[in-house]
Amino acid sequence: MSKIIAINAGSSSLKFKLFEMSTEQVLAQGLFDRIGLAEGEIKIKYGVGEKFETREEIKNHSYAVKRLLELLLDLEIIHEFSEIKGVGHRVVAGGEYFKRSVAIDSKVIKKINSLAEYAPIHNPANLMGIKAFKKILPTAAAVAVFDTSFHQTMPKENYIFSVPYEWYQKYGVRRYGAHGTSHRYVADVAAKILNRPLEKLKLISCHLGAGASICAIKNGKSFDTSMGFTPLTGITMATRSGDADVAMLSFMMQKLDMHSMPEAIYDLNKKSGLLGISGVSSDMRDVMAKSSTNPRAKLAVDIFVKDIVKYIGSYTAEMGGVDGIIFTAGIGENSAEIRSEVLKKLSYMGIMVDEESNAVRGENIVISTEDSKVKALVIPTNEELMIARDVAKIMTKKNVKSAKLV
Ligand code: AMP
Repeated sequence: MSKIIAINAGSSSLKFKLFEMSTEQVLAQGLFDRIGLAEGEIKIKYGVGEKFETREEIKNHSYAVKRLLELLLDLEIIHEFSEIKGVGHRVVAGGEYFKRSVAIDSKVIKKINSLAEYAPIHNPANLMGIKAFKKILPTAAAVAVFDTSFHQTMPKENYIFSVPYEWYQKYGVRRYGAHGTSHRYVADVAAKILNRPLEKLKLISCHLGAGASICAIKNGKSFDTSMGFTPLTGITMATRSGDADVAMLSFMMQKLDMHSMPEAIYDLNKKSGLLGISGVSSDMRDVMAKSSTNPRAKLAVDIFVKDIVKYIGSYTAEMGGVDGIIFTAGIGENSAEIRSEVLKKLSYMGIMVDEESNAVRGENIVISTEDSKVKALVIPTNEELMIARDVAKIMTKKNVKSAKLV
């Protein structure tokens, strides 16, 4: 029995999924939320539809980890801590340094810390999770899995911005992308479904959640992606603007009497996207529900669909063709309507939607017709499983045991 836990630590939350790796079965999953606030929230799902939920103070990340492990024992999900052989940590920014997942040692910790300027909220939170687990499970293998590393294969013309080159050379300003673990996972599954080697496929993965990004995956490698230096760019998102002319910010700073650039960028990150256009909500379900009566809600949906179509068209041109288009994450997995709208606009490529399959809520399904030149697929993302698989792979390769942290 070899159990691996995948961890996603945010500034005030900690999400986990515990796997039995021999079967990749999920033994438990849950969330510690509102860490550091007066009343925290703990939710754990386990067994066959069993649930544990409570509200209590969760002082800090160390306490959350300690409580999590105690609860795994109390709920008889594990019988001793030592059953957990590996811990995989999602880390948001890996810069150019981390090109793949790595076993965590003190050098890795220092590097993640130094990359915090690229993800000032996320990397420090990820480190809190790493340190808390190392304290309580010192002998378990610890592995860092980066959101950015999948995109490190992009050719230079796809990651260098058209700005002074010194910005890249001196300060590392370039396209890093995000959602790498998700794009990597769905591409793997797509190749299996299509029964073709991933190394011979041209795929476009559409991760359409509250955060959304499109990725061109050529021969199994990230070739281009819509998120940029930060996750702000690309397609319209829940509250993020996606691609925008930055010169409008200085104009708007004057109009709205804003005093700092971060203040203006806050509006692009938090008040734009579906929320900004529609004025209704940042949640696609709410926006769609209003789209027949509210023209701005309809416009928000139309822009979202148009952005996806635009990126798919441009990535198809960049790769010189496409074999499969993948839909994943909240909107991609659940909205037959958005998928259908997007694919109808791509009929010029020879994509034909099988509306019956598209309407079925299923896992890992092909929603294009048999004779469709380009295949369309719905593949629920599973970043945690990808993280756990990386841990297992690194454990076997390197026989990683405990690494001392400073
Ligand atoms: P995620 O960030 O992956 O959890 O995705 C969240 C987004 O998925 C939200 O905008 C939800 O409104 C959206 N979503 C979930 N279910 C549906 C659905 N059935 N139709 C449209 N959007 C959905």
